[in-house]
Amino acid sequence: MTPPAAASALPSTSTLTASLVTVTEVIQEQEQVQVQCVVRTRIPSEFGNATHSLLLYTNSEDDKEHLALVFGYAAAGPDSIWSRTLEAARDNETPRDRAIRGAAPLSASAIPATSATSSPLESTPPASDSNNDSAPLVRIHSCCFTGETLGSLRCDCREQLVDAMTRISAERKGVVLYLIQEGRGIGLRDKLRAYNLIDLGYDTREANIQLGLPADARSYRIATAILRDLNIPAVRLLTNNPLKVNSIVHDGLVVSERISMIPKSWSTGILPGREADGAKAIGSKLLDRDGYLVSKVLKMGHILDIPSEILAGTSAAAAPTPK
Ligand SMILES: [Zn+2]
Repeated sequence: MTPPAAASALPSTSTLTASLVTVTEVIQEQEQVQVQCVVRTRIPSEFGNATHSLLLYTNSEDDKEHLALVFGYAAAGPDSIWSRTLEAARDNETPRDRAIRGAAPLSASAIPATSATSSPLESTPPASDSNNDSAPLVRIHSCCFTGETLGSLRCDCREQLVDAMTRISAERKGVVLYLIQEGRGIGLRDKLRAYNLIDLGYDTREANIQLGLPADARSYRIATAILRDLNIPAVRLLTNNPLKVNSIVHDGLVVSERISMIPKSWSTGILPGREADGAKAIGSKLLDRDGYLVSKVLKMGHILDIPSEILAGTSAAAAPTPK
C-alpha cells in the first residue's frame, strides 16, 4: 500500500532517532562545566622535595575558586601535565602578562592558540589507545578547614591530603584536585551544626539529613572539567569513594585503577600524631573519626575494611537515636 504523500515527506524512524541522539548529545555537552585556569604559581613544599604548581580555576557552575596542585607541570612536554586554558594565547597579551598569570612564554610552549575558556566540544576525548598504566595518580579532595587547618580528628581529611601529596610527589607526576566544598558540600556553618548532632548520637549521614540537607552534596563535574583542561583522559584514582569513580567515568574519563586510602590508625593501630611514642589507637578509646569512617563505610558505600576491634567498639558505643 502506498503511503500518503504527506507521510512520505517525514524523516524515517532511524533518521529521527539519530537526530534525537544528536540533540541529546549536544544538550549533554552544553550542560558540561566550563573551567578556566586563571593563574598558576610554583609552591616549594615539604612533600618529597618536589616543587609543584598550584593552579586556580574559575568555572561556569559556581563562584568558588577550585584548585589543582599539579606535580610535573611542564607546558612544553608532550607527556607532561599542562593547562590548555592557562597556556592559550590571549589577545593583546604581553610576555609580562603571561608571566604574571604563570603561563609559559609563547616561544617556549607548543600550545595551540585556542579559546581561553575550555569548551566541552573542544575537550580531548579519552584516547582509545591511551596507556592506562601511565595514567597519572590523581586525588579529588574536598577542602576541610577543621581537619586540615585546625587538626581536628573528627575526620581523616588532613591525613588523606598529606598521604595523596606524598604519594604523588614520589611519582613526580600527578594531580590533587582541591575542591572548595566544605563538609561534603554543605558548607562550614552547616558542617559545624552537623557536628553537634553527631555529639547527640546521630552518625555523619543522619546528621546532614536531620538538617534537611543531602548526605553528600558534592559534585565532581568540575573535577572532570579540570582533568580535561589538564589533558588527562585517564587516571589512577586515590579514593575509597565509589561515587567519585562513577562520576568521572560517567563524564567520559577512564579510571584505570582505584587505590584505597587506609587510615594509618587502622593499618598500624597507632593514634594519629602519636607515631613517635607509638600510642595505641586500636584497643584504646575510640576516636571521633572512627565512628565517622565506619558510617561512611556502612551507610555511604565507601570501600574500606573496618578492623574488627573498631567495628565492635562502634557497635558497642552506638547510642539510641535521639528524638
Ligand atoms: Zn574533614
